[in-house]
Parts: sequence; C-alpha cells; structure tokens
Amino acid sequence: VKNSMALEFLSLPENVGLARVAVATFAAQVDMTLNELEEIKVAVSEAVSNAIIHGYNGEPQGIVRVAVERTEAGLVITVEDKGCGIPDVALAMQPAYSTDPERMGLGFAFMQAFMDELEVTSELNRGTRVRMFK
Ligand code: ATP
Ligand code: MG
Repeated sequence: VKNSMALEFLSLPENVGLARVAVATFAAQVDMTLNELEEIKVAVSEAVSNAIIHGYNGEPQGIVRVAVERTEAGLVITVEDKGCGIPDVALAMQPAYSTDPERMGLGFAFMQAFMDELEVTSELNRGTRVRMFK
C-alpha cells in the first residue's frame, strides 16, 4: 500500500458530497483522467447513498465508513455500513432492480460500469461492504 485514508460519518444525506470530494481528492494523486475522476465520484456517491438510504433506511444514526487505498495495482475503494444487509446480492445488482418503486435501480449498474471491478458482500442485519477497484 502506497497511501491510504479512511473516513467515518453519520448516515446523513449531506455527507454524500463529503465522501465524494474526499475520495476524488485522494484519487487525484494517481495519474488519472478527469473523466475517470468523475466516474469514481459517481460510483462513490452511489455506494454511499445506498448505505444511507437502504442500509440504514434513512435513520441518521448509522455509521458509514469509506476507505481508499492506493496500491501498485491501482485504487481500492471500500464503502461499508452496519445496516440491514442485502438478502440477495446477485438480484440487487441486476440493472433496474430496486426494492423502492420510486427508484431507478441503477446505482450498482453505474458502479459496475465506471469501475474496473466491483465486489459486494452483505450479511442480513449485519451490513454491507462494497469494494471497487480502479
Ligand atoms: P438508484 O441507485 O437508481 O437510486 P437503487 O438504490 O434502488 O436505485 P441500486 O443502487 O442498484 O438501486 O441498489 C439496488 C437495491 O439493492 C436497492 O434497491 C436495495 O434494495 C439494495 N441495496 C443496495 N445497497 C444496499 C445497502 N447498502 N444496504 C441494503 N440494501 C442495499
Ligand atoms: Mg442506489
């Protein structure tokens, strides 16, 4: 690991922007195009929004953890919550799948499209961890 950082914050929607800017600033240390930085910002926003909206169901007292590592191979971004968990991760990751009829169900699709690799692990009532590689 060449550099790393971690950030913990309460599950409030106003903290999505904080995570996005912090990760983008860190990621800018790596040789990266502006377009790639924009893609990372979107992916981080989607993962953090999911933790807040779904993981903690809008409850403002949950803790969201965002960590980034810069390695020889590139960036590893982790977004974690200790919320409700996802019953079926493969299903949740399908494009246009959402448990909320008001939503598009495209968050995971964006993460998948914009990052080189996406790993989602989740345990019911324990929480969810999203790892993204670029
Ligand atoms: P959009 O992201 O387009 O607003 P969405 O959030 O429903 O809609 P995805 O981000 O693709 O779509 O997530 C799909 C589904 O996976 C969600 O509807 C939710 O049920 C579940 N999910 C995603 N992240 C979490 C999480 N951190 N904790 C619990 N459930 C989650
Ligand atoms: Mg989403």
